[in-house]
Amino acid sequence: MSVDAVHQSSTPGERKAREVAEEAREKEWARPSFAKGIYLGAFDVTLIHPYPVPDPEVAKRGTQFLETLREVCETIDGARIEREDHIPDDTMAALRRIGAFGMKIPREFGGLGLSLVDYGRALMLISTVHPSLGALLSAHQSIGVPEPVKMFGTPEQMQEYLPRCAAGAVSAFLLTEPDVGSDPARMNSTATPTEDGSAYLLDGVKLWTTNGPIAELLVVMAAVPPHDGDGSGRGRRRGGISAFVVEADSPGITVEHRNKFMGLRGMENGVTRFRQVRVPAANRLGREGQGLKIALTTLNTGRLSIPAIVAGAGKWSLGIARQWSTERVQWGRPIGEHEAVGSKVAFIAATAFALESVFELSAALADAGQKDFRIEAALAKLWSSEMGYRVADELVQIRGGRGFETADSLAARGERAVPAEQLLRDMRINRIFEGSSEIMRLLIAREAVDVHLHAAGELASREAPILAKAHSAVGASRFYARWLPTLVAGQGMRPGAYGEFGQLARHLRFVERSSRTLARRTFYAMARWQARLDRKEVLLGRIVDVGAELFAMSAVCTRADAMRRQDPAPGADAVRLADAFCEQSRERVAETFRRLNASTDRTDTRLARAVLDGRLRWLEDGVIDQSEGTGPWIAPSAP
Ligand SMILES: Cc1cc2nc3c(=O)[nH]c(=O)nc-3n(C[C@H](O)[C@H](O)[C@H](O)COP(=O)(O)OP(=O)(O)OC[C@H]3O[C@@H](n4cnc5c(N)ncnc54)[C@H](O)[C@@H]3O)c2cc1C
Repeated sequence: MSVDAVHQSSTPGERKAREVAEEAREKEWARPSFAKGIYLGAFDVTLIHPYPVPDPEVAKRGTQFLETLREVCETIDGARIEREDHIPDDTMAALRRIGAFGMKIPREFGGLGLSLVDYGRALMLISTVHPSLGALLSAHQSIGVPEPVKMFGTPEQMQEYLPRCAAGAVSAFLLTEPDVGSDPARMNSTATPTEDGSAYLLDGVKLWTTNGPIAELLVVMAAVPPHDGDGSGRGRRRGGISAFVVEADSPGITVEHRNKFMGLRGMENGVTRFRQVRVPAANRLGREGQGLKIALTTLNTGRLSIPAIVAGAGKWSLGIARQWSTERVQWGRPIGEHEAVGSKVAFIAATAFALESVFELSAALADAGQKDFRIEAALAKLWSSEMGYRVADELVQIRGGRGFETADSLAARGERAVPAEQLLRDMRINRIFEGSSEIMRLLIAREAVDVHLHAAGELASREAPILAKAHSAVGASRFYARWLPTLVAGQGMRPGAYGEFGQLARHLRFVERSSRTLARRTFYAMARWQARLDRKEVLLGRIVDVGAELFAMSAVCTRADAMRRQDPAPGADAVRLADAFCEQSRERVAETFRRLNASTDRTDTRLARAVLDGRLRWLEDGVIDQSEGTGPWIAPSAP
């Protein structure tokens, strides 16, 4: 029995989506994952402590580049990008000149060969000038052509594309289609092999292609129809979703529309149509059928750019919150001295420290190359995008009416042009793209319950025969007889444990205890819901969210400790920030544990059913929906 059985669901579409996601998932965990341990009740701080130390040579290069980038950033007018909805040509030229399009590309291919930590710091810096600059650089090198070519390309492909990308040939990543968002299994774009096998003909439409309108190179995912390898009928069947590097000026490619959004103005993002576009077979990355794995693996590393960008937003928010809360006087006192505002300032400060810690830890783990960081990257993306949005929202609140006013309007009436409302608009997309929060929770939950799926075997399958279930029950009980006792006691119960962390030790003991509780509660959920657990998305989401907080607490404590050892003065502040963050985070953990099996879930499910069935349409009366009749919900893909 395969563990996939737990994912057998009612509709064929859903089954297919899960099968493809499962297929693309890494099943071999070559090295221990710190974050996975949190979900299994096996919190092991030694996997992240002492804090991973970067190669000094690489770190020196990173520091030098960051100085150069800062100089360039000081010449860029972020407000102009916002106003004109365009990144000026001289900015593009300056970024090309300093090598910003090749930050992650190895030096042997003309890139800067920076670490992920320094790459992230660069995105953090430039995104505070304007986030569309971060989007430009990260769509190009976090998910665009260089990343999949580096990971899956042949030596010839690397030689062909990496130097071009490093020199500034902008690239884009084309996975999403009008009909295909979180569920790429149903991809409609096709790549049909030519008779002689020398090329493919690409057809289809790709939506929301960041950099698409200005790209020179594209990485495109498209489905190759099943076919015989050599046409003889005897060869191995081939086909399936595959990845291709495509020259953007190939005949048959048109960018049909430049999309506009609530935020990220200045970002070039379009609808790209392919009509019989000839792509040489040599441009295929990896094997036929490997495309989704290539795309999802690219996104695994790629989504680390979001925590970096959000960490920058946290720092900027803190600066504005501090200055405004001391400057603005109401009811006889600076607003920061009113407790209700002060608590928001404290939340922003503690969260800004945590956002940077989560980004730095995840990137350092990826750089160290010793540990699997797929769950860490997903957790960092999920947690940072959610918390970053809360930070932006609290900043708008602290700014009061000025928080809602645009920077241009503030400047026009003679006040400091603080784009707080812009930040809120810009941060919103982070919870949606590169894997929405809901999809991140499913992805992490899949790994969190993996051990139970293995142990439960047929028990977890809806369609397994009774005898197989009985057999699995024996196997499972053996596994749990060994595993459950390990969750009863641990370091977190020993008063002096983690003593080297000083006053933060108590938080790490809390993390260790909570990790075991989380594993037990996951087991109870598994035992209770069995095959239906995969449909309990809200419950699974809460399990994931507890783990995300524990991950953030671990990142914060280990970073503060490293800072304290390096330099006691700022180190003491870091410990204070970490302490405050952990207090806040513990409250969220306690609340989420309390609501793990919230009784509202059943009521909500029934209510959602009633809404979806149209039984509550009367509630929609009394308003006007002017969007009605303006077009179909999803534009047809056919030309
Ligand atoms: C500004 C911008 C830039 C983008 N850049 C790129 C790019 O460069 N390349 C690219 O390929 N794509 C890009 N995208 C696409 C982006 O990655 C998708 O928007 C995202 O994957 C979500 O897909 P969707 O919008 O179709 O939402 P849908 O998949 O239709 O989802 C709608 C809602 O349902 C939820 N949902 C879906 N499935 C499930 C499930 N199984 N369980 C629970 N909830 C679920 C989602 O979380 C979401 O809340 C971009 C999008 C935007 C807006």
